[in-house]
Amino acid sequence: DRAPVLPVLGHDTPAPLFDGRRVPYANLDVAASAPALQAVGDRVTRTLPLYASVHRGAGYLSQVSTTLYESARATIGEFVGARPDDLTLLVRHTTDALNLLAGCVPAAADGTPGRVLVLDVEHHANLLPWQRATDATVLTGRGTVAATLEAVRAELAAGTAAGRGYALLAVTGASNVTGETLPVADVVAAAHDAGARVVLDGAQLVPHRRFSLAATGVDYLAFSGHKAYAPFGTGALVGRRDWLDAGTPYLAGGGAVRSVRVDGTDWHDGPARHEAGSPNVLGAVALAAACETLAAVDTVALREHEDALRARLVDGLEAIDGVEVVRLWPDAPDTVGVVTFTVSGWEPGHVAAYLSAEHGIGVRDGRFCAHPLLTRLGYRAGAVRASVGAGTAGEEVERLVAAVAALVADGPRADYAVVDGLWVV
Ligand code: PMP
Repeated sequence: DRAPVLPVLGHDTPAPLFDGRRVPYANLDVAASAPALQAVGDRVTRTLPLYASVHRGAGYLSQVSTTLYESARATIGEFVGARPDDLTLLVRHTTDALNLLAGCVPAAADGTPGRVLVLDVEHHANLLPWQRATDATVLTGRGTVAATLEAVRAELAAGTAAGRGYALLAVTGASNVTGETLPVADVVAAAHDAGARVVLDGAQLVPHRRFSLAATGVDYLAFSGHKAYAPFGTGALVGRRDWLDAGTPYLAGGGAVRSVRVDGTDWHDGPARHEAGSPNVLGAVALAAACETLAAVDTVALREHEDALRARLVDGLEAIDGVEVVRLWPDAPDTVGVVTFTVSGWEPGHVAAYLSAEHGIGVRDGRFCAHPLLTRLGYRAGAVRASVGAGTAGEEVERLVAAVAALVADGPRADYAVVDGLWVV
């Protein structure tokens, strides 16, 4: 009976059931957005009275705000092991970070857009930006990590042999569908051997495992604050400076420029180049507070907690007749706390509505912004995803297992209908 490793806000919020009762909300959808840490809430409350314009004012609180913002940037970069020459750009979320980087991938020698290799297992955020802004090739993942890496190596080598080498390999740090990871050292070696850089989509990894750019050699990392126990609105792109300094400014406007004439603009380099407009100081402070808290926690204990909860979910769910857990790679070196499953005879949306209406449990259903993967694996109608984190209690996982078992054994107690594509009571 595990207690949360870190206190989060909103834990046990009374959730209304279809019959009018209320039960403590079990948030098993932390892979979508994690609740804020208590420590984050405290920091935001303390900072709220202190903000004023950033980078633009000589007044006392403007100076305080600028210091808070820039020290938050430093904390966030440090948390993910930024190298001395790396830039930490503060953006809105992972999607923003990857779109920004896509605009900075250098063109090939013949002036055509730079080539990017990406797997079909990715979240749309790590697929669509490359397809839109670069010359992207989408490689079909294989049934094992070993075979997938082999296919990646072969494709990278084929690009080089054809005189059209890849500039970048874009891969997930941990799948948002299965939680599985790829061996980062092998991914980096494969890319670097072929003269390509690596960007890691760290949205599902960074909140759950200590990650270091310096230690792994990964070139760029993108992640989101709202999945790392800070509120919405701030994420980061951290990595090598040269592409970012040479790239087209992501947002055009105030703060990104040294000087503007009517006939031309002298853009900044460094973070300011891509961060035009008034920045989200509170969001940066909140994410930095989350990073500090995660950095201070016993990583072994955190990992054991999440691993134990995940193992209990997998064992408990697989013991139920007709429940199937989605897996990508039997040889994945690590798996974070995400478990996606189907219940035979029940539509994913119906299962999710039942869990909420009859048990006060929040999960996600659908295709998880990973349509190519769900289609390839044969889950065209989607699946149900439960996910756990530092703020999850063992009792919440038990409730989910018992609720799915009750659905299979007895069926739902309420009547459900589909309204606007959603299952409702
Ligand atoms: N990548 C992965 C692996 C994700 O899980 C998510 C969020 N579901 C994203 C990218 C996109 O994150 P955001 O919506 O914060 O941009």
